[in-house]
This record gives sequence, C-alpha cells and structure tokens, in this order.
Amino acid sequence: MNLLDQYAAIVGDDVIYHLRQLAAHLRGMHVVHVNSTREGGGVAEILNRLVPLMNELGINTSWEVITGDSRFYQCTKKMHNALQGNREDIQENLLHHYEKINAVNGNALNSKLEGADFVFIHDPQPALLLRSCPGRKGRWVWRCHIDVSHPYRPVWKYLREHVKEFDASIWSISNFAQPLPHPLYLIPPSIDPLGDKNMELPADDIEAYFKEWGISKNMPVITQVSRFDRFKDPIGVIQAYRLVKKNVPVQLVLAGGGATDDPEGARVLKEVRTYAGRDPDIHLLELPPDAHRAINALQRGSDIIIQKSIREGFGLTVTEGLWKGKPVIGGDTGGIRLQVINHHTGFLVNSPEGAALRIRYLLKNRHILENMGENARRFVLENFLITRQVREYLTLIVALIYGSTERIELNIPVPETNAP
Ligand code: UDP
Repeated sequence: MNLLDQYAAIVGDDVIYHLRQLAAHLRGMHVVHVNSTREGGGVAEILNRLVPLMNELGINTSWEVITGDSRFYQCTKKMHNALQGNREDIQENLLHHYEKINAVNGNALNSKLEGADFVFIHDPQPALLLRSCPGRKGRWVWRCHIDVSHPYRPVWKYLREHVKEFDASIWSISNFAQPLPHPLYLIPPSIDPLGDKNMELPADDIEAYFKEWGISKNMPVITQVSRFDRFKDPIGVIQAYRLVKKNVPVQLVLAGGGATDDPEGARVLKEVRTYAGRDPDIHLLELPPDAHRAINALQRGSDIIIQKSIREGFGLTVTEGLWKGKPVIGGDTGGIRLQVINHHTGFLVNSPEGAALRIRYLLKNRHILENMGENARRFVLENFLITRQVREYLTLIVALIYGSTERIELNIPVPETNAP
C-alpha cells in the first residue's frame, strides 16, 4: 500500500483527496528543504516524513543538510537562545564564522538550490544560503520553528536583515511572527501517525522496554522526553516530581539525547544528573537519536506526559504524548498553548508547584485522566497530523505561485482513481 492510502485509513479519504487536488497543480515542480541536522529535534522529525509524502504527491522534493564545525554551532546555539529571549551578545568574529560556513555550504549546494522552484530554509542555521544563490530562479521561504515572540533585539536585527530578503516566511503560531516586508504564513507543525515514533505498538514491546530500563509497571510513571536544554526546564520537572512524591508514589523518567546541532546538552545533562542524586525512582535515559520506537514505548507506557518548557517553539513531544492518549502537563508557553487545552487535553502550568498539583489530581482521579487522554488523541487527529501540515505547505506554494490572496481554485481534474 502506498503512503497516502495508509494515511487515508487514519484521517479519512476526503483528506487525501484534498491533498491530491492541491498537488495536481504542482506536479513535477522541484522543491528543496534545507536544515542543519538529519537527526534529533523537531525539524528533522517533520522533514523525515514531509519529504516522502510530497514526492508521493508528484512534487519532486529533496532535503539537503548543511554542515558546520563546533564554532558554527556555538554561534547558532547562541542565536537560538537570543531569539528565544536570552540576553546573548554574539561576538563579531563568531558571526563572521557563521557567515563563512553559510557561504561554504551555499557554494556546495548552489546548483541544487538555484534551479529549484521552491526552497524552504528551516531555522536560522542555513538562513544565509540565500546570499550564495544570486541566480536563484525559484521562490525562497524561511521557515522559523522557534519561539521568537520576545527576541533579544540586537540578534534579531542582525538576522532580520537576511530573512527579509526571502519571498515569504512561515511561523508556528501568530505571536512568534515578526514584522517583515513579505507575506507571513502560520503553519503549526505536526506528527506522523505511521512512523516508528507514533505508530501503535504491541503491549509486549512496551513491557520489554520498561523491563530493560528498570522502570516498574506497578507505580505510576510521569515522563518528559526532551533534549537536555534549559528551556525545557528538566530541573523544574524534578522539583515537581519531588512535590508529588510527598503524597503519591510515582516514578519520573527524563529521556533525552542530543541533537547534533546542540552543543549545550552534555552540560545540562550533568547538572540534571547531580540534581536527581541517587533517587531510584528517577530514571534518566540517554537515548540515541534514532530511538523512535523506544520513545514511542515510553510515552505509551507512561501515565502522564510532562513538558514543562519555559520557552517552546511548538513542542512535538506534547503532540506525541497527546496522540498516545495521555494528558499533558505543559509549560504555559509558545506552541504548548495550542495543544494543551486546560481541563480538556491536559493542564498548562507556570511552576513546579502548579505541575505537581495537576499531576497529583490526575493520578488520584483516574477516570478524569482517562477522559482527558481520549480528548487528547482526538484533538491531535483533528489538528496536528502530518496530512494537515502537507495541505498547508501545498496551499502556501499554490498561493505564492498564483498570487492568490483570497481564494484558491481547485476545479481541476484529479488524475488519481481513488477520489470519492
Ligand atoms: N526527541 C528524540 N530523542 C530525544 C529527545 C527528543 O527523538 O532524546 C524527539 C522528540 O520525540 C520530538 C523531537 O525530538 O519528536 C523534539 O521536538 P520538540 O518540538 O519537542 O523540541 P525541539 O527539540 O525541536 O526543541
């Protein structure tokens, strides 16, 4: 069965029919996505499925990854932190290095990028490639996945000079979007219900993983899956767990690994390890970047998912938890607010105390926990699966090509036979 038919079984035939209608306008078109890592982090997760799906829809889509050295990632990490609001000045020589690495990658990718009809540049790391492609024939779109609602101004001012040259930009939610002299689009991310990370798993598999990790199935489990990053507030999660533990037996799992473009992870993990001490009910799992099935099992085997971020672009881990029928206790920030609907799919919290209160409440009221879990899964089905995101990318491409501002005509014959 091809991919699209497999999705139809989950989201319904009409959703797939709509995708084919949109894609029929774009057949044979050449689209390139560029980011800075093939594994680890939300962007890679999305591209891993978006790219094959667009190909199956007849759009010739490829994915390029830029490479850099540790100084480059040091610079882009600072930039990332500054854009998410930290007061972080970046030395001039580091910025020059960032420009140089972009130029080197730009020269290497030039022939692929200049000829493409559409180029999607993800996040700040490759944002300067545009400068290396003066002969570009297609349209270029900057896709921002991070929370730029309150950027540290000097750094945004620097980046904006480059980003403003794009033909359009995409933001995950409206209050991240910054004024720019081109069309701005809002496209929240999504998850893939068929991939290893989110597919159904046999109960035996889940049990085997828990056994391997030494996590008891006889005591409730709360889990946060995240890169070890201060914005994800792993220390706050442990504080919340300790407050819960005073009244209710519970285990905490903090699972994470590093994205290859995140140099700070090891330092944060060390701090977390020290803070966790020797508590046998805290499980720190360091997972390799391809541990998708393991994360799936972990989320499915947990009672509650927590994502106590202080800043969050979108929070795919939240979507993943909700999809598995788990209420999510989420930091009241960024894209988590789009997904965690208080008392419906979980609870938004602003402190370890708040998180602990909600966790205790759910663990003591199982029927509410289960009801919320059902709401959670339905909410993702309706809003945050990859098919919705593909539809919005296609709509954006159609809108930019045809210059349609208000409506898009779809009254074209659809070549596929399985239209309803
Ligand atoms: N992830 C993973 N291994 C880890 C930590 C995270 O595979 O050790 C995955 C996680 O399941 C999710 C993505 O990476 O799919 C993280 O995306 P999110 O939007 O939550 O955060 P980001 O890392 O992009 O800030």
